[in-house]
Amino acid sequence: MSDQNPCFHVLAYYYFTRLEDPLLEVAKHKEFCERMDIRCRVYISEEGINGQMSASEEASELYQAWLKSDPRFAGVVFKIHHHPEHAFPRATIKYRKQLVAIDVPVDKAMTGEHVAPEKWKEMIEKRDANTLILDVRNDYEWEIGHFDGAELPCLETFREFPEYARKLKEERDPKETKVMMYCTGGIRCELYSALLKQEGFENVFQLDGGVINYGLKEGHDKWRGKLFVFDDRLAVPIDEKTEEVISHCKHCGALSDVYYNCANMDCNALFLVCPECAETLKGCCSEACTCAARLRPYEKVERPKPFRRAHYYETVTHSKGS
Ligand SMILES: [Zn+2]
Ligand SMILES: [Zn+2]
Repeated sequence: MSDQNPCFHVLAYYYFTRLEDPLLEVAKHKEFCERMDIRCRVYISEEGINGQMSASEEASELYQAWLKSDPRFAGVVFKIHHHPEHAFPRATIKYRKQLVAIDVPVDKAMTGEHVAPEKWKEMIEKRDANTLILDVRNDYEWEIGHFDGAELPCLETFREFPEYARKLKEERDPKETKVMMYCTGGIRCELYSALLKQEGFENVFQLDGGVINYGLKEGHDKWRGKLFVFDDRLAVPIDEKTEEVISHCKHCGALSDVYYNCANMDCNALFLVCPECAETLKGCCSEACTCAARLRPYEKVERPKPFRRAHYYETVTHSKGS
């Protein structure tokens, strides 16, 4: 907990459960969230729910109790951060065909063994040459923070993951290799760990509740840097207090974990920048972008909120967002 006297909860949760009428659940969520001034990004499908939200402590408690009172969601686990204000601009609640975008059929019964944060830490300590700590997030998430000794699959998009799994099988013995897979909140691992097992990897473990849960339970030990989150905060200390910066300004190489969306509205690239370079280039990702026709005015702030061009958010959250 920070000492800013925070008054908002930022919740992250997902739950796989059979929903006969997901559109009805969407409508019920919309009504509840509007009434309680809850802002969020919640996706609901026939297979369950994946949500992130910010709410006053009171509204947060009410929402948690409300969702859990429905027997279909009784087992949901909420991970809670604290923040002095809303972390989302509005309530976005939508039906999605898939909670995690994945092109190939996945048998969720094959999902990797869930490992509690305490055990995960122990497994990292005892790891040997046969252990692969696999980060199944995007490169821009990895860049500002990850587990010490972890590897990031070199992929353009996670649609290439099945191909990656087949290649991995040529490099590492699928019977001997112990794969420790993690993501932000845990949902991606439910599917990607199953994919690895389908490809023949026998020892696949997933961090229960993802990095968020690990930070809340075990602190920042074994973790380097910060955690990328898909809300206004963008970069957070995993234990809500330890500030470590491991990433660098795109322009000058100075340490920075401050992300900007390029001020050129036709570029909008997400990039890391230090305060000096942000000022010099007026929030642009390159010299070329500073001359573009459609520039957002540069505003000097310590940590800018992400610029929400609708389709930008759709892209990042749909492709690999937690
Ligand atoms: Zn710089
Ligand atoms: Zn740009």
